[in-house]
This record gives sequence, structure tokens and C-alpha cells, in this order.
Amino acid sequence: MSPPSASVFVRCSCGHLHWGRYGAAGLLLVDPARGVLLQRRAWWVHHGRTWALPGGAIEAGETAVKAAAREAFEEASVPAEAFRAVSASVVDHGNWSYTTVLALADGAEARVANTESAEVRWVDPDDVPGYPLHRDFAAAWPGLRDRVGQELVLVVDGANVVGSRPDGWWRDRHGAAERLRDQLAELARHGVADPDHATVTWWPRIILVVEGKAKHVTPTPGVEVVAADTDGDSKIVEVVAQQKARVLVATADRELKRRVEALGASILGPGTLRTRLDAL
Ligand SMILES: [Zn+2]
Repeated sequence: MSPPSASVFVRCSCGHLHWGRYGAAGLLLVDPARGVLLQRRAWWVHHGRTWALPGGAIEAGETAVKAAAREAFEEASVPAEAFRAVSASVVDHGNWSYTTVLALADGAEARVANTESAEVRWVDPDDVPGYPLHRDFAAAWPGLRDRVGQELVLVVDGANVVGSRPDGWWRDRHGAAERLRDQLAELARHGVADPDHATVTWWPRIILVVEGKAKHVTPTPGVEVVAADTDGDSKIVEVVAQQKARVLVATADRELKRRVEALGASILGPGTLRTRLDAL
């Protein structure tokens, strides 16, 4: 038996009607050179003629990212290969939720692709409030604006995180670092919660810093590997200093924490990270 159709209105506990039995999702596509992609809704759809994001109902069993990508393709002809999901935020109404997926475009072309959209346009983020926006998008925009163009980089102190759990890692430091790398690759696909905003998930760029007997660990899709020739801490500080994005450093080393926090980075405790990795 097929699941109930996603394409229905839901009477929400907030008092409004919302579209999508399993919630809805939209794609906030950001092109640093052109701005953000907005869509003017056709006159006949709910909240017609207003500007919002390409998006729609999440299908049964579909992730919010998949739904946002599918809708962006159906409505604005943007192929999934033309962007990279960077973060997502959820507005949760209890029996209905809306997920906005922020993605970085890499030369993506957009055009009106079905009858639900009247026009698609790249808009300078500063000009967005001047458009007649859909009620919910207008309410969400101030919070989304801060994350337009933002990325998260997770720098992992390999030796410190491996050493945080007495599981016999000292017998095979290379193998232990490889296992950590493979778990981090899984994390790159699933994302990490924003330490300051529980409703925000990031798909971070992950940099694993290795040293000593683990320094020949090779990279894998989703995880870059940087080897320290001598001092791992100094290499981590160097990597953090090179980043323009927001940086999260996974370490429990007190002196290293002080050095990277001085560069503006935030700290993720190895215990918190490993709990998250174990849950994948
Ligand atoms: Zn609601």
C-alpha cells in the first residue's frame, strides 16, 4: 500500500493551514556573485503572486534536503549537481514543520520550469525585504539572512579525539585515526547541530589534523586530511587561521582551546563529537 499523499493542507496547532502532510521544505540557493534565488508564485497557488523560495511538500520517506532539491528542479530547473547544501533550519509547529535548506550554487542556471512559478530571479540579499514576500518567508528571512553565504568548517584534533576514549587505540594509532576519519565522512553526510541554535544543522567542511604514527592517513570524500610534521597543535592553529568561514574545533586540549578561541573559533568537546558519531 502506498503512503497517504503528501499533497494536502494540514490544519496546524498554530491556527494556520500549511501545505504538506509530512511538512514542507524550500531551497535557499546562494550564489555569491548573483544573490539568492527567489520565486514568484503563480497567481493560482496558496499565497499566489508573493515571492518566496522554490519548495513544497516533503514526500513520505523523503529527507528535507531531497525534497528541497526535487522542488527546486521541478519549479526552477536547478539540478541537484549545481549546488551544495551547507545548512538547514527547521521551523517546528508540532504537527507540521518547514525546513529551509541553504545551499551554495556553483554557476547554477534557473528558469521557470512549471506552472507553480511565475518568475524566478536572483536577488541581492539586501533587496529581499523590498519584495512582496510570502508571509512565512518574510517571518523567516531575518534569521536566514545571517547565514546567507556562511559555511561551517569543523577542524578535528585527531590525536586528542582518538585519545579521548580508552579503546585500545594506542596499539594501532594509524587504524584508530582511519576509523575516526570514516566516521567523520558519515558525519559530513548527516550534518552537525549548531552549538548555539538547536534548530540549525550544518553540513560542514571537515578537516582532520593527524600527526605521528597517524600522519599517513589519506583523505576520503567529505573529509580533508592535514598532516602535522612536528607539532599538531601549531598545525591546527595554522589551519584555523586560514579559514574565512565560521570554525568549530574538536579538542579537549586546554592550551589549544585558548589559542583557537583567540582566533574566533568555537569548541566542540571530543565526548560530544563521539556521542554524535556513535549515533550515526
Ligand atoms: Zn503552524
